[in-house]
Amino acid sequence: MSEAKKVYLSKVQLKAEQDRCLNCKNEPCMHACPVHCNPRAFIEYTKNGNTQDAVKNISDANPMGQTCGLICPDKFCMKACTRAKIDFAINIPKVQATIMENFRTEKEDYSSVEPNGKKIAIIGGGPAGIAAATSLAKKGYIAHIFEKTDKIGGALNLIPQNRLPQESIDKDWAFVSDTPLISVNFNTSVKDVVALLTDYDGVIVTTGEPNTAILNIKGEEHCVSHMDYLKYPDKYVTSGKVAVIGGGNVAADCAFTAAKGGAEQVDMFVRRKLSDMRISKAEYLELIDEHINVSALCSPESVEKTPDGYTLTVHRNRFRDGKLEAVPETSFKIPGFALIIKAVGSFADEKVSHEKVIYAGDCKTGGSTLVEALASGKAAAEEMHLKLS
Ligand SMILES: Cc1cc2nc3c(=O)[nH]c(=O)nc-3n(C[C@H](O)[C@H](O)[C@H](O)COP(=O)(O)OP(=O)(O)OC[C@H]3O[C@@H](n4cnc5c(N)ncnc54)[C@H](O)[C@@H]3O)c2cc1C
Ligand code: SF4
Repeated sequence: MSEAKKVYLSKVQLKAEQDRCLNCKNEPCMHACPVHCNPRAFIEYTKNGNTQDAVKNISDANPMGQTCGLICPDKFCMKACTRAKIDFAINIPKVQATIMENFRTEKEDYSSVEPNGKKIAIIGGGPAGIAAATSLAKKGYIAHIFEKTDKIGGALNLIPQNRLPQESIDKDWAFVSDTPLISVNFNTSVKDVVALLTDYDGVIVTTGEPNTAILNIKGEEHCVSHMDYLKYPDKYVTSGKVAVIGGGNVAADCAFTAAKGGAEQVDMFVRRKLSDMRISKAEYLELIDEHINVSALCSPESVEKTPDGYTLTVHRNRFRDGKLEAVPETSFKIPGFALIIKAVGSFADEKVSHEKVIYAGDCKTGGSTLVEALASGKAAAEEMHLKLS
């Protein structure tokens, strides 16, 4: 089986998950989904052999149905799934991704759309931009995306291949973008948002969070940012000891990439408690599987370049009256790191205020999830439509 295929369910697993579905009439799984995908319906369609109806049902709600199914966390539909009260939740996201991978044959059908003559500029070709563009195109708008890199998909391109194969993003994009109503200018960074209103009826900004957060410690310049590391992992030495500063799923992706890339030891340093880490149970188990050391309640103080690599100085933290504070005189040095990766978050560019400029996705809400960015992009398209109607 190819690496890419391993992330989907096998035929037998798909059937087993479908057979466990209780076909709940109150559809808790759909209500919990930010884009209102309807697992009850698409599982029922597939069970009855109506695979094309299942694909259509998923695509109508979600312009990145396959990708979303591969990486959606278990805090939405799965948390609401009635089956969890009996044994364990249906693995709805994986069922969705597998249906899209196995049964999607056609492209999104825009044939009944009447162009309305209005043009919207979308800045950023990540999930929120894709969702805004497809929702607008379905209403007859020309949706023109400006993307600063040479790729569609935004931050999804930083997710390691073993978790999210690139071909899934490509398949979703090929499915939704086959219409003259949607176009992209790659390698185009927009600096002046309002200037676009000369040529467009409105602008939707979905630029994510392109700036890495600053730790404000001595020697910070020796750290590699998560963005650089995940974009070009092969560029960095990972054969020795690697430190990852941060405790979210981006930090975990850096740690997994280093471990799989040949690092002899990977140490994560997490400011808060282990239970505060913003990772899923599956990611937590993978950290254990990959023998990644996690030091919780630990903050970096400085980084020093030495003849044998980098020395990281950290101190212990504790909670007092619900507040996190450094424990005095607990600093200690850890020498011999070949690489120190900083994965402590990112932030958005400054916003402008204009009635025909709408913000969506991570640049509006802060770091979220794929499905929430899609929901936000769809909502922005709806808001723009209301403004212009
Ligand atoms: C390492 C990593 C792992 C993740 N894992 C998961 C996961 O497992 N599950 C999950 O649900 N979510 C995950 N996420 C979060 C998810 O990827 C984001 O929430 C989502 O991509 C946000 O979408 P967006 O469109 O708002 O922004 P982005 O995806 O950041 O897209 C913004 C786009 O705008 C472009 N851009 C920026 N500035 C300009 C400009 N001035 N001009 C033109 N273009 C510009 C950027 O190049 C980019 O393509 C992860 C994110 C990262 C980084
Ligand atoms: S809540 Fe779970 S069991 Fe009920 S319809 Fe949705 S997927 Fe099936």
